[in-house]
Amino acid sequence: MRLLFLVFLLFFSVFKSQKCYDLKTVLKVEPTELYKPHLLAAQNFGVNILESTKAVDKYIAKGKFVKVKKKSRGYRLQTLEYSRPYLVKKARTTLENMGNKFATETKSFFVVSSVTRTLEDQCRLRKVNSNASLGISSHNYGAAFDISYVRFDHKLKVNTKLEKELEKILEYYKNLGRIFYVKEKQQSCYHVTVRKY
Ligand SMILES: [Zn+2]
Repeated sequence: MRLLFLVFLLFFSVFKSQKCYDLKTVLKVEPTELYKPHLLAAQNFGVNILESTKAVDKYIAKGKFVKVKKKSRGYRLQTLEYSRPYLVKKARTTLENMGNKFATETKSFFVVSSVTRTLEDQCRLRKVNSNASLGISSHNYGAAFDISYVRFDHKLKVNTKLEKELEKILEYYKNLGRIFYVKEKQQSCYHVTVRKY
């Protein structure tokens, strides 16, 4: 019985130490045409693909990643389970500017539902959401965030008016050459990647 337990323990530790993804395979997944500009923009900031917490910590220590405030004028950060509240500086500034503009136009706030994800986070996410991408995304470089379009003012419902206002702001920043965005219906959010403007 004891031996069985030890074998089990050994098996478990070996299993646990193995990565849940294979970087080569992950990098080989071709992004769709819609996401290609997002990926290229994110890779422009000189951040290597984030594999684990250690990598994120390294960029925080270097001052390359800054913390996203839980609450700022025009936006709130949702409790994050599969991502981390850090972004490259330019992305944080852009998010804050967008929030400010949104508050001015609407007196409401939008909710940020996802920020920076490591490849390990992505594995965990895939276990609960089979739609989560197999390949890499701009979230893996600290330059992207998701804005929910069903949680304005923390109210879980469709709000066509506020959604239109948000889209106007996204369009405005897109035309300035500062962001790329795409509406993700499955996640009920706008996926926003900040460009190195
Ligand atoms: Zn996204």
